[in-house]
Amino acid sequence: MVDLLGQYDKIQEQVDSKILEVVKSGAYINGPEVHNFQKELENYLGVKHVIPCANGTDALQIAMMGLGLKPGDEVITADFTFAATVEVIALLQLTPVLVDVEKDTFNMNIEALKKAITPKTKAIVPVHLFGQCANMEAVLEVAKAHNLFIIEDTAQAIGADYTFKDGSKKKAGTIGNVGTTSFFPSKNLGCYGDGGAIFTNDDELAHTLRGMVNHGMYKRYYHDVVGVNSRLDSIQAAILNLKLPQLDAYCDARRKAASYYSEAFASNKNITTPITSSFTTHVFHQYTIQVKNVDRNALHQHLLDSGIPNAIYYPVPLHSQKAYTDTRYKEEDFKVTNELINTVLSLPMHTELDTEQLEFITSTILFFINN
Ligand SMILES: *Cc1c(COP(=O)(O)O)cnc(C)c1O
Repeated sequence: MVDLLGQYDKIQEQVDSKILEVVKSGAYINGPEVHNFQKELENYLGVKHVIPCANGTDALQIAMMGLGLKPGDEVITADFTFAATVEVIALLQLTPVLVDVEKDTFNMNIEALKKAITPKTKAIVPVHLFGQCANMEAVLEVAKAHNLFIIEDTAQAIGADYTFKDGSKKKAGTIGNVGTTSFFPSKNLGCYGDGGAIFTNDDELAHTLRGMVNHGMYKRYYHDVVGVNSRLDSIQAAILNLKLPQLDAYCDARRKAASYYSEAFASNKNITTPITSSFTTHVFHQYTIQVKNVDRNALHQHLLDSGIPNAIYYPVPLHSQKAYTDTRYKEEDFKVTNELINTVLSLPMHTELDTEQLEFITSTILFFINN
């Protein structure tokens, strides 16, 4: 699905010497590389505060802790996402409330969001799934009307631009009260281990979060709040410092591969290619098609047999997962997710795809579907 070594090949010399430099510096945690990365990412995103942490799941958890959410508070998120989003809600003993998504963008359905609000609702977690933003202007409106926090899960969409109706733009993850991301190796901005970050323009929240990632300490050995241990290490930060200047080029390479796929599949009635909403750019963390009149699982297996990696993201809706079932859920409220799990297929998507590979992938898929 990804070609991390192919990407590494192109920056190998810089990466190798940088890693060695960090090792020789003796500063492995919170060293200058981490501080630099924080500043560079703040600049890139146009956000006041970036708080690096250990991974994208921690970023979500710490964001929710920082907002002061309390057991029993309801937090609304999408039914069709990676489990991390709902996991941390449950872990903090908040009440996850899952809502259906839109069939064409895979992102949170705003009508479903509105319907799910109760007097206990305290926060919304829109997930910018597969690389494009959820409808943030609508989410902001709902949040404002009901006095709710917004935590943007930007693990899959770092670098995407959101355009508001008045023409102003913001980076994904900097629109709500707080945004989170992951630097897991296969993410669009990936390091060579685990990493994550939290973004906010709120000075007070940033201060709280900075302490929370480090055992609730604001002064060494004085613990003002309950925190966690969640740090980005210096080697990962050094790698991210080398890769951040490439992020836009990486996104372009992904978009180019996506265009190739979409053109190749354009005239096939049994394949629905991903669309990009007018208010967002798409950074194609995943390129996900929907198939009909085709046995999706057979296509999945056929591609694997042909040496073409591909994956079903996601095979089970969160509301049907054993850990997250809730007697309040009704199947008819999850029509789209229940359909998507049977029709979606994510194709290889990374920065190193060449025309020959794309040609082989698309022709193999079209041959299977047309025969
Ligand atoms: C990857 C991912 C996460 C979790 O990030 P980790 O760094 O793996 O903990 C959270 N949410 C979404 C949508 C993701 O894709």
